[in-house]
Amino acid sequence: MENFFDHPRPSYTFEIFPPKGNKSTEGTYGVIDSLASFNPDLISVTYGAGGSSRDNTVEIASGIQNRYNTNGVAHLTCVGTTKAELKAILDELRANGVRNILALRGDLKDKSDLGDFHYASELIRFIHEEYGDDFDIFAACYPEKHPEAPSIEEDLAHLKEKCDLGVKALISQLFFDNDIFSAWRDKARAMGITQPIIAGVMPITAAAQIPKVVEMCGASVPSRVRRFVEAYGHHQGAVKEAGIAYATEQIIDLLARDVEGIHLYTMNQADTVRRIDAGIRSILYVKRYEVRTNG
Ligand code: FAD
Repeated sequence: MENFFDHPRPSYTFEIFPPKGNKSTEGTYGVIDSLASFNPDLISVTYGAGGSSRDNTVEIASGIQNRYNTNGVAHLTCVGTTKAELKAILDELRANGVRNILALRGDLKDKSDLGDFHYASELIRFIHEEYGDDFDIFAACYPEKHPEAPSIEEDLAHLKEKCDLGVKALISQLFFDNDIFSAWRDKARAMGITQPIIAGVMPITAAAQIPKVVEMCGASVPSRVRRFVEAYGHHQGAVKEAGIAYATEQIIDLLARDVEGIHLYTMNQADTVRRIDAGIRSILYVKRYEVRTNG
């Protein structure tokens, strides 16, 4: 299988979550069957987020890598974890042929949660020290700053530290306002961050998502989004249609702004991805291969 970094850009990637606890992985593989048919450059699998099982992350990321012709990425967080536990997971991933890791700190419920590492940068350093170049490391970035960071500038300075440790690409937190993303990306470039920045897009498919998202990451919600959620939020099908249309337009605009990649937070909804995919296929192709049919 071709290495992710040899794929044409802009890249096109998906994120899924594994089943919780010891629930069967069968349903998740049903979702992956559909997602893989859209030929993403990789599918990433969350870790411990929202109570999802950590073991299942390893299993599903390995399954993507070995059962589908697709790169699997395992998210890995370091809060509340020891070096030995992290090493056991990394050993298993390497043995299973997974070579892409999204190295994260994870969310802190309180400071006593901290394990051997305090920041993602320490996990990144650890992976390099223990495994050399066996893994390609991705890291998270925040166009509206990380909620704990006092300023965008300070957050970017810490992002630069992660990049300088050998991160190969960045995946952004979700955002709804492309102008905010572009302005932040310019600042990141001005600070010497040269890694590809993959833009995270989450389609809104239910009204209840908005307060959750705002609480989780503090994303700005443009008036246009608030308006469609208010107008159509009481009807599941209607708000989903509006959310898919918004995400599709957002991606088309991001591609016009020459982003290096689109990362879809799929929420394991293959039907939503199918509809967005249908709306951006030719545009992605044209951006990748600079196809011209006239003029
Ligand atoms: P860090 O890069 O360590 O940054 C955390 C905070 O510390 C920031 O405010 C930063 O500015 C600051 N900081 C960094 N270094 C220093 C330093 N040396 N001194 C002082 N301050 C510093 N969470 C999950 O639990 N599971 C997942 O699967 C998951 N997937 C995610 C995927 C993406 C694409 C994104 C964007 C986030 C994901 N998260 C996930 C959430 C993530 O774990 C949280 O946002 C977490 O709070 C921060 O993780 P980080 O890796 O960005 O941390």
